Amino acid sequence: MMTTFDPDLDTTRHSIIIDHAALVEQQRLVANPLLAAVALLGVWALFRYSLEVRNLYLFLSTLFAACVASSLVQYHCLDCGGTDLALRARHHACSGVVGRVRARAHPPLWPPALRAQVKSWLLVAAFGLVLFAIFHHVG
Ligand SMILES: [Zn+2]
Repeated sequence: MMTTFDPDLDTTRHSIIIDHAALVEQQRLVANPLLAAVALLGVWALFRYSLEVRNLYLFLSTLFAACVASSLVQYHCLDCGGTDLALRARHHACSGVVGRVRARAHPPLWPPALRAQVKSWLLVAAFGLVLFAIFHHVG
């Protein structure tokens, strides 16, 4: 009896093609700006120092460091517990996420999209800076 199954030829690799938009919709990611915030505090200290000593190169490298530091926002996945940089979040596809995409489940209501979370953290930071500036000026 012949079977049509050949383990060398019929390697069923489970690489399925998933729409990126559907993937992002099904992710349950929580933004964590702690690392970026700590890095930006260091950048802020360096920034003030560069102004104090009037060093242009230090000032420019501080600007560069600010860009790098702000890309250190991380995310935690509520499905697999994984943590990675938020810049790479679009490609996060653990079994929980892929399972929901395949089941065509309703997008989870909580947590909100990672972009929205990062935007709200930016708003909080801006609000905090304004408050700091006001009280720093008054006091
Ligand atoms: Zn995950």
